[in-house]
Amino acid sequence: MALDMLPVRLIPLGVGHSFTTLFHYTNFLLIAGERRLYIDCPPYLLKMLRQYREALNDPEICVERYQEVIVTHAHEDHCAGIEELGYMSIRRRPYKPKIYAPAGVHGSLWAESLAAGLRWRMDGESYVAKEYTDYFTPVYLEYGVPFDMGDGISLEIRRVRHMPETFGLKLTFGPGRSLGYSADTGFMPELFDWWADCGCILHEVHFDPDIRWHTPLRDLLSLPEAVQERIWLCHYTDDYLSHDIGAMHYLKQGVSYTLFTQESSIHVENPCAARE
Ligand SMILES: [Zn+2]
Ligand SMILES: [Zn+2]
Repeated sequence: MALDMLPVRLIPLGVGHSFTTLFHYTNFLLIAGERRLYIDCPPYLLKMLRQYREALNDPEICVERYQEVIVTHAHEDHCAGIEELGYMSIRRRPYKPKIYAPAGVHGSLWAESLAAGLRWRMDGESYVAKEYTDYFTPVYLEYGVPFDMGDGISLEIRRVRHMPETFGLKLTFGPGRSLGYSADTGFMPELFDWWADCGCILHEVHFDPDIRWHTPLRDLLSLPEAVQERIWLCHYTDDYLSHDIGAMHYLKQGVSYTLFTQESSIHVENPCAARE
């Protein structure tokens, strides 16, 4: 069956804010046919993958199959696992995972984060300087320009309000089959026009009403109810259950969601796996 006819599975591997003590940091696995796309890459990657490999009884959730990751920005909660990925890939040459990001994110990832751990390798008794491309296959995205990921999958990114280089995205798996993700951002109401054709929108939330570099719950609650119903919240702090989230939903860590079924744009498969 063509990929644009198949349901897509979404597993939130983490849903927590960077100060979470309950969850993994926010990151996702999307499974579309044979493709496995990861979005953001938190620290303790290998431990997290093992946890899901065993809990979901899926041997494919492993570092060897971690071959494509979209990295939204260079904050540690979203990118620190890439150093682990780099160490694993250099041990298993010629395996070099693809990292999808605009040039600015690639640049800061290497220069301001990864180089500290990955620059130097020992070769006999001497030290050899390595580069980003010794470990990874960078795939360069441009803001506002849809990128063809193959298999009919399209990725479009827009700059959001967080670090200077941070992007929100729209992933499209065929006509009428789009998913939005905010990444970390201050409130940007114009994004919801861009996501008008998205059956579900994964959106960060923050409970401080005055924060500027994350999205206050208060601002999301100002959106029309029909928009709220398509919003699935992530990147939340430990007190999340004490807040009224209107018509929105919390994404639950470890639950398998099926997207783009005939009946609905998002279907919860095994809610028993969720932590309340
Ligand atoms: Zn961030
Ligand atoms: Zn974050």
